Amino acid sequence: MSTLQFDQNLLGFNADVVIIGAGLAGLIATRRLIAEGVNVITVEARERAGGRMGGGTFNGESYDFGAQWVAPQSTALRTLVHELGLPLTNQYHEGESTIGLRNRATRYTKRAPFFAPHVALDYRRLIRLLDATARKLDAATDESLERARRIDTRSFAAWLHDSCRSRTTIALFNVLTRVHFHAEPTEISLYYIIDQVSAHRGAGQLFRTRPAVLQERVIGGSARIAERITQQFRQQILLDTPILAMRQDEHSVTAYSRGTSFRARYAIITTPPVVTQQIYFEPHLPPARDALQQRIIMGRAITMILFYDYPFWRENGKSGTVLDDAGPFSLCHDVSPVNASEGALACIISGEAAHHWGMQPRSERLAAVVKQLQHWFGPEALAYRGMIERDWNAERWNRGANGFLAPGAASYIHNVATPVGRMHWAGSETATHWTNTLEGAIESGERAAAEVMVELGSAGLLRTNR
Ligand SMILES: Cc1cc2nc3c(=O)[nH]c(=O)nc-3n(C[C@H](O)[C@H](O)[C@H](O)COP(=O)(O)OP(=O)(O)OC[C@H]3O[C@@H](n4cnc5c(N)ncnc54)[C@H](O)[C@@H]3O)c2cc1C
Repeated sequence: MSTLQFDQNLLGFNADVVIIGAGLAGLIATRRLIAEGVNVITVEARERAGGRMGGGTFNGESYDFGAQWVAPQSTALRTLVHELGLPLTNQYHEGESTIGLRNRATRYTKRAPFFAPHVALDYRRLIRLLDATARKLDAATDESLERARRIDTRSFAAWLHDSCRSRTTIALFNVLTRVHFHAEPTEISLYYIIDQVSAHRGAGQLFRTRPAVLQERVIGGSARIAERITQQFRQQILLDTPILAMRQDEHSVTAYSRGTSFRARYAIITTPPVVTQQIYFEPHLPPARDALQQRIIMGRAITMILFYDYPFWRENGKSGTVLDDAGPFSLCHDVSPVNASEGALACIISGEAAHHWGMQPRSERLAAVVKQLQHWFGPEALAYRGMIERDWNAERWNRGANGFLAPGAASYIHNVATPVGRMHWAGSETATHWTNTLEGAIESGERAAAEVMVELGSAGLLRTNR
C-alpha cells in the first residue's frame, strides 16, 4: 500500500493523485488507484466520509437520510457491498401500498397498481413515447442533434401537458418526477428527462410506479459502505479538510485547504458541480466548464424519519409505501430495523415542497408530515415517539439532493466529464449510466481513476505494487 509523503518545504502533502471529496465516487477512485499502486491522498470537507450516503441514529439504530436503496440492476453496487461484507435486507413491501393522486387513492399489493383503464393506457403510452424519443436521440446523427436542441426548448411539464390525455396521468408523472429528480417537471428540461431515460435503460425504470418492489437496503445504513472503505485507507483519507482553492500548472496540480496544501500530478474532483463552483481555481476554469457548472441545478429534498413503538401499519395490512402528489412528502417507506424492534417511516419531501417546508419551523414541518401520515395510516400515526431529519438543501457540501438541467442547457452537458488540464471529474452527476445514483457514482469513480491511470502510464509514472 502506498504511503503519504509530508513535504516540509511545501507545508503540505505530495502524492501522485489528489482526490477531492470522499463520497462514494471519491472512495471508489481512491480504492481503485491504491489497488493499482498509485500514491493517493483523498481530502474530504466533512468530518465523515460518504457524502450523500449519510444518516442519523435513533435508539442506537442507524437510519439513512440519503441513498439507501439498492436496485436489482445495480450490479457494481451489489459487488461492492458483497466485497465489503455488508448484508442486505429486502425492502419491506408486504401488504397494501398506496398511490395518492388528485385526492384519490389507488391501492395495490404484489401486482402493478390498478389505475383506471384510461390512466393505465395513457401511462403506458407515455412510457413508450419517452422510450421512442430516447432511441431517436441516441442515434447521434445530425438529425438527432437538431432534435435534442428542439426538445431542450421545452420543460417536461409542457410536454406532459401536451402529451397526457388524463390529468391523473400528469399528476402521476409529477410525483414520480419529484421522487426521482427531487425537482418539479416545470423546472426540468424535456431533453434532460430523455437523456435520463437512456441513462436508466428505459422510461419504465425511471418512472416506476412501484418504488419498493425488488429494492434492498444495507443493514445498518448505506453509510457503512463509506465507513468500511475509510477503515481500509485511514492513512490516505483526510476528513474535515475542505478544499478552498486549486491551482494547476504544466507540471502539477495543488489543492489548498486551511493551512495545508496537497500537491499531485493529477486531481480527481468529485464534488457536486454546484459545490465545485465554491472552489477558487487558478487559472480560472475554461468558460465551457464554468458555464456547465452554473447550469447543473440541485434538486431539493428533506428526509424525515418518524419512529413508533412497532410497525403498526404492518398489522393493518399495509406495507408503509405511499406515493402522494399532495405532499408534504412525495414518498414514504417502511425503514424499520430488520427485527422490527421499532417502527420507522422515512418520508421524503421533494422539489418545491422541500423548498417551502424547509423554510417552516421544525414543529410545523413535523405536524404537516404527521397529518399526512394520519391520512394514510390512521390515528396510530399520531403516536410517534421521535423524529430525526435532514434538509439536504441546507448541507453546505451538497447544497441539494442531485443535479438536473433546466431547458436550454443541453449543449453544455456533454463536457461534464472532460478533463481540464490535470483535473479530472467524477461524481454521480457525471455518470453516463444510472446518473444521480450510487451505481452512477461508482461508474464515475472508476472512469476517472482509469483516465488518471492512462495519464500516469503514458508519462511512465505508473509504479506497480501488485
Ligand atoms: C434524499 C436522497 C435519497 C437518495 N436515495 C438514493 C437511493 O436510494 N439509491 C441510490 O443509488 N442513490 C440515492 N441517492 C443518490 C446518491 O446518494 C448519490 O448519487 C451519491 O451518493 C453521490 O455520490 P458522489 O460521490 O457522486 O457525491 P457526494 O456523495 O455528494 O460526495 C461528494 C463529497 O465531496 C465532499 N466535498 C464537497 N465540497 C468539498 C470541498 N470543497 N473539499 C473537500 N470535499 C468536498 C462532500 O462533503 C461529499 O462527501 C439519494 C440522494 C438523496 C439526496
